[in-house]
Amino acid sequence: MTIWNLGSINADHVYALPHIPAPGETLAARSLTQGLGGKGANMSVACARAGGKTKHIGAIGPDGAWMADRLRAYGVDTAAILTLPGPSGHAIIALDDRAENTIIVFPGTNRQIPPAHIDATLAGAAPGDLFLTQNETNHQPEAAFSARLRGLRVAYAAAPFDAGAVRAILPHADLLLLNEVEAEQLRQATGQGPADLGLSDVIVTLGARGSVWLQGGQEHRVPAPRVTPVDTTGAGDTFTGYVLAGLDEGRPMPDALALATRAAALKVTRPGAADAIPTRAEAEAFHP
Ligand code: ATP
Repeated sequence: MTIWNLGSINADHVYALPHIPAPGETLAARSLTQGLGGKGANMSVACARAGGKTKHIGAIGPDGAWMADRLRAYGVDTAAILTLPGPSGHAIIALDDRAENTIIVFPGTNRQIPPAHIDATLAGAAPGDLFLTQNETNHQPEAAFSARLRGLRVAYAAAPFDAGAVRAILPHADLLLLNEVEAEQLRQATGQGPADLGLSDVIVTLGARGSVWLQGGQEHRVPAPRVTPVDTTGAGDTFTGYVLAGLDEGRPMPDALALATRAAALKVTRPGAADAIPTRAEAEAFHP
């Protein structure tokens, strides 16, 4: 089957710093690294590297051709990535010595995707395909609705958290993925915890503590292997992409989660976002 991912594509500018700057502080960076990022692009790369047939739906500016090339090099189908006038999305990432980060995102063309383009692209999907989206583009609720109507299974990574988007997309979602902070934001915005939403599957990621899969009133904990973190950027995206690829292959959720957990732990030991996402062979061979 195919994974259709409506998602952001960002140029990441990563500044290595002794600590995260406090408000009003000016701090010289030790180095600058540029690479491919954006939650959407990261997830597409993870899906493709995990072995899933992945089609990315999104938009870049004329300055972003290298990012589409990079996605293609990682095995992602980029035919549904539009080039629009205006700057591509980009992110300014401050990364400190303890692998903590703070991120400023400029959405650029990620928020200018025409709804007709999304719908026309999804017209090529088959029932049983997977649709994935996050909160860094526009028109996700309409896209999730359209995907559901066409018989796709809808997975939603509610990041960065947006209460309005969550309320609009949840009625069309089969699988919800959140980190701990987003789970708490969901509670505050809706008064409901992840287990109270009536979705068939919810996964809450817990960083170094692993994740929990909530299904049919049951709670399944998946511990993460112990690793020395270098850069946690994209850990959640790697995890999500691997889960989707596993489900798309028809593997049971516990198998998909086990490999996703190994892939995400391995990502954490490497600097970078999309460019640091492990291949399936690397994830399978990783036994920390
Ligand atoms: P990010 O925004 O940094 O991409 P996130 O906040 O969305 O990540 P996390 O819960 O931090 O998501 O991490 C996702 C998954 O990655 C975890 O469920 C875990 O399996 C793995 N992971 C994250 N941090 C670590 C770590 N320090 N050691 C091992 N595994 C980790």
